[in-house]
Amino acid sequence: MSNLNKAIDWIESSRDDMTHFMLEMLKIKAVNPDGGGKGEYERAMFMKKRLEEIGLHVARHDVPDSRVAEGVRVNLTTVLEGEDQSRTLWMAAHLDTVPEGSREFWATDPYDPIVKDGKIFGRGSEDNGQAVCSTLYAAKALKTLGIKPKMNLGLAYVSDEESGSKYGVIPLIQKGIFKPTDMALVPDSGTPDGSLIEIAEKSILWLKITTKGKQVHGSTPEKGLNARRVAMKLAIQLDDMLHSKYPDQDRLFDPPPSTFEPTKSDANVDNINTVPGVDVQYFDCRILPRYPLGEVIKQIESVRVDLEKKTGATIQIDPIQTEENTNPTPMESPIVHKLKTSLKQLRGLDAKPIGIGGGTVGAYFRRKGMDTAVWSTLDDLAHQPNEYCKIRNMVDDAKVFAYVATI
Ligand SMILES: [Zn+2]
Repeated sequence: MSNLNKAIDWIESSRDDMTHFMLEMLKIKAVNPDGGGKGEYERAMFMKKRLEEIGLHVARHDVPDSRVAEGVRVNLTTVLEGEDQSRTLWMAAHLDTVPEGSREFWATDPYDPIVKDGKIFGRGSEDNGQAVCSTLYAAKALKTLGIKPKMNLGLAYVSDEESGSKYGVIPLIQKGIFKPTDMALVPDSGTPDGSLIEIAEKSILWLKITTKGKQVHGSTPEKGLNARRVAMKLAIQLDDMLHSKYPDQDRLFDPPPSTFEPTKSDANVDNINTVPGVDVQYFDCRILPRYPLGEVIKQIESVRVDLEKKTGATIQIDPIQTEENTNPTPMESPIVHKLKTSLKQLRGLDAKPIGIGGGTVGAYFRRKGMDTAVWSTLDDLAHQPNEYCKIRNMVDDAKVFAYVATI
């Protein structure tokens, strides 16, 4: 029997162990402190112990955070030496969860996980417990059977993913834990059959646009300056300009073009017969990686200045979120190839690389220059009530990770 088959069999026979591990871990509530939670530290300590039990040397990276009782947020990394030790394939999963939301929508206690119909129900079971468990057991299989990964296999269990990664992946990257020549697999998004491999994200630009004119009575608009009218003109002009200047389509993404959407509008005056002096509106833009954000912002700026001149209103544009993702992972990169090969061999699947609208930690790795694939098999229950992870997916994803690590 080949080493790889031994690892696959070992993982299949660990199904009950894995389930037990999940039940234990999910009992440790680890809601992100931004969501009012605690327990992330305790979960990290639990994880550290489990890694050390396998005989792995665990590095602990503490990031100070005065809001939590322990004073630090903990991140863990460990590396299994590979045949080629010049590069590391990192598998990264996060320990924190979002809050449970309204309890009334949960059929069971979100922090007292249960197994039912081949699924584990509980907050954090899918997001991101499944990945924590699958990556751990992939590594455990290799370690237990004495199988060397092809290149170094790194595991990173991080904090704070649910609230921007300021105490998680970002400081780890700044610390130089990951090298640009390393590659990353982030099992934090996926499809029910595991047939999509996410390799790129659009850049994100959220804008808050404040237009100031002069408030007057609705019957005498000539005495004031209607901020709402200027704001509407601005919205139309921005919408037209952005769509015409950035029209490219990229079939990697669904949807293929950049998107520029006027979304929220703050309440202005309380009554119909008042001409508003202030208007606040927002745009959500998701921009193809080929367009540098600085360039887009310059164009937006010129529309703003022009309209200010023409109307006499004051217009301020503040970026609420700016995430530039100009470094998509190439379709023919080794991490994508490894995943595709594994999925073909293990599941007979022809997996397809895709781009998404933005929002995973994969973006941080890609910005560092690392080839990064976001992949897993899940029903997409993240952040929902009655979140579950299918035990079958958890076991089968562990097989894929072991396969990826050894080819
Ligand atoms: Zn997640």
